[in-house]
Amino acid sequence: MPSPIRTVIKRSFKRGAMLLGPALGTPRPPSRILTYHSVGDLDHAMNVTPRNFAEQMAWLADHVQINTLDDAADAKPGVAVTLDDGYRDNLTNAAPIMVKHEVPGVVFVTAGKLGDLLVTDGEPWHGHLMNWDEARELSAMGIAVGGHSLTHPRLSHLSEDQQREEIIGSCERIAQELGTPVPYFAYPYGTSADYDHNSVRFAKEAGCRLACSNRYGYNVPGCDRFTLRRIWIDATDTMESFEAKVTGKLDALSVLDSPAGMFARRMLNRVA
Ligand SMILES: [Zn+2]
Repeated sequence: MPSPIRTVIKRSFKRGAMLLGPALGTPRPPSRILTYHSVGDLDHAMNVTPRNFAEQMAWLADHVQINTLDDAADAKPGVAVTLDDGYRDNLTNAAPIMVKHEVPGVVFVTAGKLGDLLVTDGEPWHGHLMNWDEARELSAMGIAVGGHSLTHPRLSHLSEDQQREEIIGSCERIAQELGTPVPYFAYPYGTSADYDHNSVRFAKEAGCRLACSNRYGYNVPGCDRFTLRRIWIDATDTMESFEAKVTGKLDALSVLDSPAGMFARRMLNRVA
């Protein structure tokens, strides 16, 4: 739950990183991919309200080149938009806003849980995932549907056979339900501790053209197309921090994927 204390700490942390960014002399990055989750009124740290999402998409349409995910993997300058897990509100709330602003987004669905509630790390979100009819409706609106495993595990904790089933099995299920190949995959949780070389291998064997991590940062020419970095947008983001993330002033947050950064993030998440 996004407690007031955690929100204040996160916002202060972002403010510090905004000051640090220019001091580090970060080069102007060519390509960024944003990660959203639910776009609704859930009381959850990863939820963005429809009002904020609409404001953010309008800002992107006015200020940056909006990329497809393939453009992003080619490090074309601009911003691509992705949403993880497959929440029903991605269809009802996010998709109409994306269509209005001509944002060709990708929704990564947890294929074995569609039509149900998603539980991550033992914690239910109370956010309903879309069902397959709704996934087909989303696809018909021009929003691509990508794979995000069957049950949302930490892939690196699984055996090789389990990983194969989670990754290839999920892409096959989506292809079967939607009648179209699955070009994209996103590793659940997605920090460098949550996937491994087998995850990358099976995403390639599933026929995907690229795969996304959740390692914070931007992508440069020649980047690994199967471990693309992304920038998460969450409930604590103001328009100021959103713009800072999109324009690079918060690139210092990429330190969060280092061992020290992941420790700090775990500590931060315990503040309640
Ligand atoms: Zn996820």
